[in-house]
Amino acid sequence: MHPPPMARPEVTAFIALGANLGDAAQALHGALNALSWVPGVRLVQASGLYQTAPIDSSGPDYVNAVAQVATTLTAPALLDALQAIENAAGRERPYRNAPRTLDLDLLLYGDARIESARLTVPHPRMWERAFVLMPLAEIAPELVPPAALQAVAGQGIEPLR
Ligand code: ATP
Ligand code: MG
Ligand code: MG
Repeated sequence: MHPPPMARPEVTAFIALGANLGDAAQALHGALNALSWVPGVRLVQASGLYQTAPIDSSGPDYVNAVAQVATTLTAPALLDALQAIENAAGRERPYRNAPRTLDLDLLLYGDARIESARLTVPHPRMWERAFVLMPLAEIAPELVPPAALQAVAGQGIEPLR
């Protein structure tokens, strides 16, 4: 008999969702559903959807949200799952900051600090982005100091509908 595999503890992670091609709101709902079906990922909560004007990007307005998950996956394995969901949604990367059908970024993975070739956590640009901080503050206000929200207050963002 083999001993049971050692259970990894659950880690709380936050994921930024964004899309600005096709039916972006539908893409985000589909991504949340897909996330909830990933083995080792439990969807804890999701923010509402926000509409934002493109910043370093172009094309139609973005729809953005942030999800909190509890996961037994490692951070690289979670990134693999996020990229598989992006690819299934038809994500292409013709150039940097191109319009996209779906973008899933790992914002925070517990209190881990990661700097590998394919993964930087916390996400290095999260504190510059109202479209990340507003939905994150909605579901985890303790993670977003008021000064951080004030710093991005000039960026156009509003709750969708
Ligand atoms: P930005 O990172 O500024 O939001 P982006 O999301 O459009 O830009 P992508 O094309 O989605 O960029 O990803 C480019 C690469 O970023 C990916 O191949 C991935 O390996 C890497 N990457 C590094 N850190 C992260 C992270 N925390 N979450 C998601 N991808 C990351
Ligand atoms: Mg991104
Ligand atoms: Mg990305």
